[in-house]
Amino acid sequence: MSAYTDLGLEPIINAAGMSTRVGGPLMHPAAAAAMADAARSCVPLDQLEGAASTVIARLTGAEAGYVTAGAAAGLTLSAAACMAGLDIARMGRLPDATGMPNEIVVCREQRNGYDHALRAAGARLVEVGMNEQVAGAGVRRTETWEIEAAFSEQTVGVAYFATPESQPPLEEVAALCQRRGVKLIVDAAGQLPPARNLTRFVEAGADLVTFSGGKALRGPQSTGILAGRRDLIMSVALQHLDLDEHWSTWDPPANLIDRERLTGFPRHGIGRGFKVAREEIVAVLVAVKSFAAGDYQNDIRRYYAYLRTVGDGLADVPGVEVHMIGAPDEDRFPSLELRMDAARAFEACRRLRRGKPAVYVNEAGLHRGALVLLAPGLDDSALEPLLARLRAVLAG
Ligand SMILES: *Cc1c(COP(=O)(O)O)cnc(C)c1O
Repeated sequence: MSAYTDLGLEPIINAAGMSTRVGGPLMHPAAAAAMADAARSCVPLDQLEGAASTVIARLTGAEAGYVTAGAAAGLTLSAAACMAGLDIARMGRLPDATGMPNEIVVCREQRNGYDHALRAAGARLVEVGMNEQVAGAGVRRTETWEIEAAFSEQTVGVAYFATPESQPPLEEVAALCQRRGVKLIVDAAGQLPPARNLTRFVEAGADLVTFSGGKALRGPQSTGILAGRRDLIMSVALQHLDLDEHWSTWDPPANLIDRERLTGFPRHGIGRGFKVAREEIVAVLVAVKSFAAGDYQNDIRRYYAYLRTVGDGLADVPGVEVHMIGAPDEDRFPSLELRMDAARAFEACRRLRRGKPAVYVNEAGLHRGALVLLAPGLDDSALEPLLARLRAVLAG
């Protein structure tokens, strides 16, 4: 507790789930312990990333992997790798992409705030398709031929933001990319659980897949995992690692960087500003290993029990409908929706944030009158004060 109170801050009750702005989920205890352990000694970061590559490759089925400073940094590094490849002069020029192919095709309906991370590397996004369903002006989604029609000599990749509802089907887009020699970058930041999604996008044919380390994996909030083709991961490593070294003494792990393939020694790349600490790398690897081993299924049951208790405790509040979404044996995190009049929901959210202890709920449902509660930021000690504040605001 004292780390925050020393700074004059009161810890909040985080029922917002994965939201970065309120700190994300509580770190997995084994990851936190690994972090403290790693802080006590040092290893060269290229060797550590080489070891990370082996672990990530094994868990995702990809040829190689890399720990990044979050999934968004994984997108920036992916775009940089697709543009520069192993050309060290290009690496040195980014984000100025003058004179090199730099177009990444993206479906208009998939565009979102995180695609800024692709543009940050110097990529230019080329939008295809319509947004007819959201516009209420049509029945169709984006189709694969529309992506192909946008390809030119300037195309380096396709960016695909994966959700269970994403269109066109990933397999179709992957087949197109393979046929035309275009790289496919998949943003799967929030697509865990289920654990089988660790392998699913690679299996479908993606060249690079980015996951958040600080969402369901419960690693450090500032980490991410990138899985992909060996040459692209080599390019990522070269554009991320601190390379203020002598060529004659530099000895990177061969599984990550093949020195023989370099025509010179790049200086710090575009990713140097997204560094990841050794403690974070070690911790996210512990987190992803325990996730892949199915550890999170205990979390699902615990989260369900928390939310059930909160829901039952609010069942008698007038004008509030309580809806539990998910089940203890389902392969996804449950949520609890408290549905009411939209104006009341906004007001309740404001009051929850301002009282003591402050309670933050997920705000994605406010416009339809839903306070959405998620449990990855909660522990046993949060339950009683959470319910008390909800009752005070909603029934008081
Ligand atoms: C959360 C998220 C990101 C960013 O992940 P970080 O690990 O916080 O960098 C990127 N894309 C999508 C779709 C996300 O949901």
